[in-house]
Amino acid sequence: MSATADLRDTALAAGAELESAHPLDVLAWAHEAFGDGLVVASSMADEILVHLASRAAPGVDVLFIDTGYHFAETIGTRDAFAATTPITVRTVLPQQTVAEQDAEHGARLHARRPDLCCALRKVEPLERGLGPYQAWVTGMRREDAPTRTDIPVVGWDERRSKVKLNPLAAWTQDDVDAYAAEHQVLLNPLRQIGYTSIGCAPCTRAVAPGEDARAGRWSGQEKTECGLHL
Ligand code: SF4
Repeated sequence: MSATADLRDTALAAGAELESAHPLDVLAWAHEAFGDGLVVASSMADEILVHLASRAAPGVDVLFIDTGYHFAETIGTRDAFAATTPITVRTVLPQQTVAEQDAEHGARLHARRPDLCCALRKVEPLERGLGPYQAWVTGMRREDAPTRTDIPVVGWDERRSKVKLNPLAAWTQDDVDAYAAEHQVLLNPLRQIGYTSIGCAPCTRAVAPGEDARAGRWSGQEKTECGLHL
């Protein structure tokens, strides 16, 4: 059997076994199973995931895609986590700076062709960054969006031939808030002014009370996903 087939079988078996496990246990299993082959992909908008990973897998690599469009508060959150928790932040940059992209494609590509902008500034860097790893962790939850209702806790990422873990899949916003409060998790300061889902600055706005948590992402456009998880 090939190494890829072995890895897929490991993912599928663990998926059945860990479906109801606490995220800490899922992350501890992954740390044991994959060691340095494990990486957490974080935009620093999933702060409790980073906190959980630092507890379950001290020293774990955390992949941060610096799109060039992040809020200063998000960069500050990354730096604060790096300084105060046992994680190893690996920042990956797009192939082009924003200025170089503007020169080739015109200014404000995010407003005209957001799928292309995400492909250049998020998806390609993520693919490159994930390259050396066997397994990657995301902060996705089933209640985030209609496109995420069936994500597994541990699954097989067929396109990338990697194990993909979503340890928070079953958690609700109340679970997230309770964990953050209990452990006094460092949070992106933008949360205090209505930013419930945080991405790049040009494509994120604060939401009003009662609005869907992700209503502030690509507001006014049909786009709902950046393409990382498709
Ligand atoms: S979220 Fe907006 S600014 Fe960020 S990469 Fe996608 S389109 Fe570009």
